[in-house]
Amino acid sequence: MDIIDKKKYTGERGRVFILSGPSGTGKDTVFNHMMTLQPGIDNVAKCITATTRPQNKDHGEKSQQTYLFLSRSEFLERVIDGYFLEYAEYAHNLYGTPVSSVMDKVNAGVDVFLVIEVQGAAIVKRKLMDAIMIFLIPPSLSALDKRLRLRSRDSSEAIRKRLESAIIEMKAIPTYDYLLVNDSLEQTAMELHSIIIAERSRIRVGHSVVLNNDISDG
Ligand code: 5GP
Repeated sequence: MDIIDKKKYTGERGRVFILSGPSGTGKDTVFNHMMTLQPGIDNVAKCITATTRPQNKDHGEKSQQTYLFLSRSEFLERVIDGYFLEYAEYAHNLYGTPVSSVMDKVNAGVDVFLVIEVQGAAIVKRKLMDAIMIFLIPPSLSALDKRLRLRSRDSSEAIRKRLESAIIEMKAIPTYDYLLVNDSLEQTAMELHSIIIAERSRIRVGHSVVLNNDISDG
């Protein structure tokens, strides 16, 4: 029998994964840990996004590695130029996903992760209907409060606002495909890994091919 190419059914192009969840839940930590799990997963990359928020050099944030840090006017110019797939205002700062950094990877067959908040996620889903939406929650709001304090990046007032935002953001959970609880880092990273593996076997619309000789009634 001829060899059947799985990609005829699952597609040659990469997938778009959206990972959302309240700030401080550990989205980046879970993603980074998932990338270190063995056996390793290849052809997965995180999309570097742009922001107008100040760079946090004390916490090791490097331009072009953590974010592309832009002034508000630079950001708005790029909005006009159609540079972003989506953008949103969050905690008085703008955040946006460059369209090219998503599509270049997808076209090269790489699965791309957008670690973005819920408003931007909804925009991406409207534009890319087969984007896979994953929501990460903390085990409790008190655990989130503790993590935000341990991170010691925000003032008490800013932490209070982030907790309020968390409650609002969690209202979007029903619009997502998967829900992960970040209780144990190891377990959550493994669950994320499993989602990617499972999605790589999903038959994607527009990729179905009927094999003349291999389909019969019995
Ligand atoms: P932080 O300031 O804590 O790094 O990020 C604040 C929030 O913005 C996080 O929930 C983060 O996932 C989200 N975010 C980061 N980049 C983008 C982006 O390009 N677009 C949107 N909509 N949200 C983003």
